[in-house]
Amino acid sequence: MSNITLGILGGGQLGSMLSAAAKKLNIKTIIYSDDKDAPAQNFCDEFLFASYDDKEKIYELAKKVDVITYEFENIPFETLNELNKLKTVLPKPSVNRLIQHRLAEKDFINKLNIRTTRYVHIEDKKDLLPLEDFLPGILKTTTMGYDGKGQYPIKNIDEIENLNIDFKNEYILEKLVKLKKEISVIVTRFNNSKYEVYEPIENTHENQILKHSKIPAEISDKIFKQSKEWAIMISEELKYVGTLCVEFFIDRNDNLYVNEIAPRVHNSGHLTLNAYNISQFENHIRAVCSLEQIPLKKLSNAEMINLIGNQIVPYRNNPKLDDNQFLFDYLKKNIKEKRKMGHLTTLK
Ligand code: ADP
Ligand code: MG
Repeated sequence: MSNITLGILGGGQLGSMLSAAAKKLNIKTIIYSDDKDAPAQNFCDEFLFASYDDKEKIYELAKKVDVITYEFENIPFETLNELNKLKTVLPKPSVNRLIQHRLAEKDFINKLNIRTTRYVHIEDKKDLLPLEDFLPGILKTTTMGYDGKGQYPIKNIDEIENLNIDFKNEYILEKLVKLKKEISVIVTRFNNSKYEVYEPIENTHENQILKHSKIPAEISDKIFKQSKEWAIMISEELKYVGTLCVEFFIDRNDNLYVNEIAPRVHNSGHLTLNAYNISQFENHIRAVCSLEQIPLKKLSNAEMINLIGNQIVPYRNNPKLDDNQFLFDYLKKNIKEKRKMGHLTTLK
């Protein structure tokens, strides 16, 4: 019986699934969230509701736990840094600061000689005018974006004039890649430079939101190997502890690019709950709590469909599922358009 208590910042579905994985390992969880309806409160042992810069509550959390992690990246660096003075925060706050900033993140990846899309830093509308070369492209806020939020496609130079965007924020302009496919690689790095790597997952997005993931990905052997190598290189360079996801683009000439890194468990890895002996969530808990590392074994091919907005409704009234199907309802109070409400995994 372990007597570890783990603090988790963030209370969405990733926090729920981390809490459930921790419970299996006899680890207590305290979820800290600024959303009083945070769904993870249904899965954790204790719930703290406060803003991420509430010093008193932050200290209360630190006092109650042995180690702290997070389930989304947009947490103020100061908060993680303060917490880290009191209890170990994993992944390290400096890693999160790097990755939560799209420009710093892309500079870091390029320094490792890993290909990304072409990008430039944009501070003002007039910075865009000489950049026809980067069009068609996407303007993205450097911080706080997710599920396509804070992104503005620009087709041609004439569209720049009419852009209605607040340049108080910083942006990057990214050249659009002619996508053949998107894949992701999830890796868990343990404290001693050891890894567990999941096989590449093939992902389909709708309106910039993940809709569908499957293994095996239909990709060449070369891309299979290179994507795993790059994911390991990135986690090693960061001296990362925990589960991390690298999102990749594959273009029509079969070139591989890193799109972005998520310093956390990832939506595309939900199928690992049913398709592997150890899920991405359990591996994250094992790594940040310094538990035993168990070699990964794939049990089955699988596909996962996100249930977004109203798509959850038919699954809430006694749905008929086959033996190889697993439904996860995130128990979110309000159904909203574009909101991830649950997912369905089918083993193949
Ligand atoms: P988020 O942080 O919202 O996940 P991403 O940068 O991953 O932002 O973009 C979301 C999705 O939008 C990607 O998975 C991809 O489908 C599409 N996309 C983003 N940037 C590009 C690009 N440069 N070229 C082609 N597609 C892109
Ligand atoms: Mg993304």
